[in-house]
Amino acid sequence: MAATTTSPIHRRGLMLVLSSPSGAGKTTIARGLLDRDAGITMSVSVTTRAMRPGEVEGLDYYFIDQQRFDRMAETGDLLEHARVFGNCYGTPRVAVEDALGAGRDVLFAIDWQGAQQLAQNARDDLVSVFVLPPSVSELERRLRGRGQDSEEVIANRMAKASNEISHWPEYDYVIVNSDVTESIAAVWAILHAERLRRRRQIGLPEFVRSIQDTL
Ligand code: 5GP
Repeated sequence: MAATTTSPIHRRGLMLVLSSPSGAGKTTIARGLLDRDAGITMSVSVTTRAMRPGEVEGLDYYFIDQQRFDRMAETGDLLEHARVFGNCYGTPRVAVEDALGAGRDVLFAIDWQGAQQLAQNARDDLVSVFVLPPSVSELERRLRGRGQDSEEVIANRMAKASNEISHWPEYDYVIVNSDVTESIAAVWAILHAERLRRRRQIGLPEFVRSIQDTL
């Protein structure tokens, strides 16, 4: 349970989901949020896709083979999983449950399929944010700018962007990522406000009563 230093009020950790079409900037926003806020932990997914140059095992993903992925999915070790761009991705369950149990908030950068699966099991503790690119041309520019994917992969991701974007109404918040610093500030503001929701604050009625009793 997270406790503030100034009050006896606690709360359960919340799950903050960021989704966007590939290249809209959710990974950069996620990193910025982690730098800015010590109370939130990133959920590191497992994936069967090949490691890109510059990626780090255990930081960007846990890179595993299909057999291991299938076993994790079968034994319930994944909180959610989905096939995206022909590869499998999933959220390891234990790390999330441990972080939430310790009163930390958990950040997920996953697709709409994963967001839907998490929502089925954690409605009250889930906050979802959809990140839109400012334009199609900017989305393409960012995908090319990564310089890590082939033309075929880029064309495939552009084609899939439309499908991902069609899920925007399923999210609690939508931001247009025109300026990454502003977007990080916006997502942090969402996180901060959601932490203060009345229903999340365990012990609030007792705290208020203790104030009223002494008035
Ligand atoms: P990339 O291969 O570019 O890192 O990610 C491709 C897509 O897979 C992105 O939309 C990303 O959000 C999504 N993704 C990454 N990890 C997970 C996960 O654990 N679960 C689901 N459902 N999607 C994921």
